[in-house]
Amino acid sequence: MKTIGLIGGMSWESSAVYYEIINQKVKELLGGFHSCKSIMLTVDFAEIESLQHKGQWNELCNRMAEAARTLEKAGAAMIVLCTNTMHICSHAIEKTINIPFLHIARATGMAIRQQGLHKVGLLGTAFTMEKPFYKDILREEFGIEVIVPDEEDRSTVHRIIYDELVTGKITEASRERYRRIIKNLEKQGAQGVILGCTEIPLLISQDDMSIPVFDTTRIHAEKAVEMALDK
Ligand code: GLU
Repeated sequence: MKTIGLIGGMSWESSAVYYEIINQKVKELLGGFHSCKSIMLTVDFAEIESLQHKGQWNELCNRMAEAARTLEKAGAAMIVLCTNTMHICSHAIEKTINIPFLHIARATGMAIRQQGLHKVGLLGTAFTMEKPFYKDILREEFGIEVIVPDEEDRSTVHRIIYDELVTGKITEASRERYRRIIKNLEKQGAQGVILGCTEIPLLISQDDMSIPVFDTTRIHAEKAVEMALDK
């Protein structure tokens, strides 16, 4: 089993879920007393969030690359970045390490392709919904068309992530707002929806929706285990 290096803390609410899933998955696949060999490096999300909203992406990419290097030096054999948004910095990470990096959009693209869907909705931070780094991979490498909510709904999705989900606040009112926004995407032809922020699965699950829901936290964490076990 390879040791998985996790860059966590963005937010720790979802990093804890990653930790749980990788261990559950190893137990499911290997049984007995097995658990997942891993090292998690946790950043202070207050610093990250402030740099994000000031648009200081170079500094953020330096920090992500530094975290990946530290994990490699500590013995990690592969890197998993436990957030969708910070994959804006995937190039900086890949450039600096000599071990594989499992991109969350690629893991998600594979899961969507397995279900044979061609058009999906994407919910995430404004950075993930509006910048090309995530949608481009799905379109160019998997031929998947990605649609996002309109401006007003995008700002609602973004606000709920930063004001509530990353601090562990889960409310029925926000769940209802997300459901309505996903329904709108469905009306525009989305055959499924990507929960493209690692905290959204704390709010919305498949049980809440009629179209397939792609939980990027679970997809990414489970794919990491398959890679670690060479499956
Ligand atoms: N965890 C979130 C994501 O998957 C948002 C927090 C962040 O900005 O990294 O995008």
